[in-house]
Amino acid sequence: MIPVRDDLRALEGYHSAQVDVRVRLNTNESPEPPPAAFRDAVAAEVSRVDWHRYPDRAATELRAAIADTHGVDVSQVFVANGSNEVLQTVLLAYAGPGRVVATFEPTYQMHAQIARVTGATVVEGERASDFTLDPAEVERVIAAHQPHVVFLTSPNNPTGLVEPAERVRQLLDLAPGLVVVDEAYAQFADWTALDLVAEDRPLVVTRTFSKTWSMAGARLGYLVGPSWLVTELDKVVLPYHLDAVKQIAGRLALRYSDDMNDRVDHIVAERNRIMAAMRELALEVFPSGANFVLFRVPPGALTGREVWQGLVDRSVLIRDCSSWPRLDNCLRVTVGTPAENTEFLDALADVLASASNQDEMGVTQ
Ligand code: PMP
Repeated sequence: MIPVRDDLRALEGYHSAQVDVRVRLNTNESPEPPPAAFRDAVAAEVSRVDWHRYPDRAATELRAAIADTHGVDVSQVFVANGSNEVLQTVLLAYAGPGRVVATFEPTYQMHAQIARVTGATVVEGERASDFTLDPAEVERVIAAHQPHVVFLTSPNNPTGLVEPAERVRQLLDLAPGLVVVDEAYAQFADWTALDLVAEDRPLVVTRTFSKTWSMAGARLGYLVGPSWLVTELDKVVLPYHLDAVKQIAGRLALRYSDDMNDRVDHIVAERNRIMAAMRELALEVFPSGANFVLFRVPPGALTGREVWQGLVDRSVLIRDCSSWPRLDNCLRVTVGTPAENTEFLDALADVLASASNQDEMGVTQ
């Protein structure tokens, strides 16, 4: 073995348990595949791909379609392999050794992870115990650390909370560097920071095709930001990073926005049903503007980890956040199909009931 870079030695990779179960509600994907007409249209265009040629390096048609969707200029759109690669490209260009990146925890772990991989120093602001972000904490972090890049995730992952617009405006007022608003789940929420993007503002908003667009398998994401910033990202990203098939799939997906909006409506309705049912089960349920719900198992017969295991035993997989910092006894469930959600809720009720039965019988201490 040869030693890895000193600053990488303490880092761990990204983990999400992959268990063979009937109901998988652990990675915030869409529960439905894309419409059949979309898949047929992709297959038809893919059959005409010039396989022996490199793809359009600038992904012009795809970027134009995205720009059209959001009413911005094509020069303000950057696309990559999932929003993770978008974030990585931003951090390669604007973080790196000697620079500071700020996050407000708990939040999406990859922001800090990728920042550290670029060699940047990460400073962590703290959210309140209800996971809201106090403006005074924003002020403190910015004043103390003057970060080159600062992240907000709205709706936040894993908490589900939507960040108020004032918080983004506050950051734009105070931050000396780039503000990144990660909107992987924005379609499920009631506002977007996209309207704040402007040529004279150091703000980027990142989006993904993995959730609303039912295309997690394709790995496609993008950002909308000032054109001068997109030009810098183009220097950093690998040539021809976005393959021809993905460019086609992304462009065609945008033609099915009505279908996708319907799905978003269904998921939001199901999310609200799940939240109400979990509250009935006396769980602490955090407000969600996303396609998932974070909840906490209150002190009692079972820990969060035991509830998670009880669900796995009933062939339902959700995300165990209970060992993550600040998330004691917390679990996160992705909204699935109505049938999957019902199966999850039944299994959850069963796990909790069997524990309280055992408790009454004096089986557990
Ligand atoms: N941002 C957030 C907040 C996420 O939750 C995720 C997916 N878990 C991503 C970005 C990455 O999405 P993708 O790379 O699939 O576009």
